[in-house]
Amino acid sequence: MTEQEGVIKFSYDFEKRETVPEVSRDLQIWRDLLVEYELIGQLPDRYGGYGFGNLSCRVGDAFSITASQTGGLKRLTAADYALVDHWSLARNHLSASGVKEPSSESLTHAAIYDSCASVRFVFHVHSPLIWRARQKLGLPETSAEIPYGTVLMAQTLESLAREVGSDGIIAMAGHEDGIIAWSTTAMGAGALIFRALHQQAS
Ligand SMILES: [Zn+2]
Repeated sequence: MTEQEGVIKFSYDFEKRETVPEVSRDLQIWRDLLVEYELIGQLPDRYGGYGFGNLSCRVGDAFSITASQTGGLKRLTAADYALVDHWSLARNHLSASGVKEPSSESLTHAAIYDSCASVRFVFHVHSPLIWRARQKLGLPETSAEIPYGTVLMAQTLESLAREVGSDGIIAMAGHEDGIIAWSTTAMGAGALIFRALHQQAS
C-alpha cells in the first residue's frame, strides 16, 4: 500500500507567529542540494503533483522543520520553517508555531528524535532509485502493511531507529520512494543518502 503525500494525519495545535528565529545554515545548504537532485521538490509527474520531502533539525528540546507544502519552493527563508516544541507519538499529536504550519510528516521526524537523544538532523527524501534498491542495499525498512501516518507507524519507526543508532538510513516500504536518514550532523545525514545513491548505481 502506498500513501498520498501531503496529507496530515496527526492532530496538532498551531500558534501563528509573525516572525520566526533563523534556521540552521546547514539545513538550508542541504535542502538546496537535495532539491537540485530532486530528492525534495514538487513535480507534476510525481505523487499527484504534491510537494515531497522535508528536513528538520533539533533546536533545544524542540525541532525546526520545513513547513507544509514547501517542496515546490526553490529557496526557503526562516518563515518557511515551523518549530515543533511538543509531541506525543502515543497520542498522535504535536504542537507547533510559526508563520506556516509544519510538514505533514512532522510526527515521522519526532519518532526519530525520540529514538536517540544525540540525533540532531533528520532528512526525509523521496528517491525512486534508493527505494527500489533497498533490499540490494540492505536498508532496514518499515513494513508495507503499516499505514503511513498512523501511531503504529510512528512507534515502529521509533523502535527501528533505536536499533539502528545515532546515524541511520531506512526505507519506508509503505510510502512510495520514502527514505529517512538521520545523524548527529547534517553532513552525516546527507552523506548517508548520497552514499546509498552511489551504491545503488554501482
Ligand atoms: Zn514523504
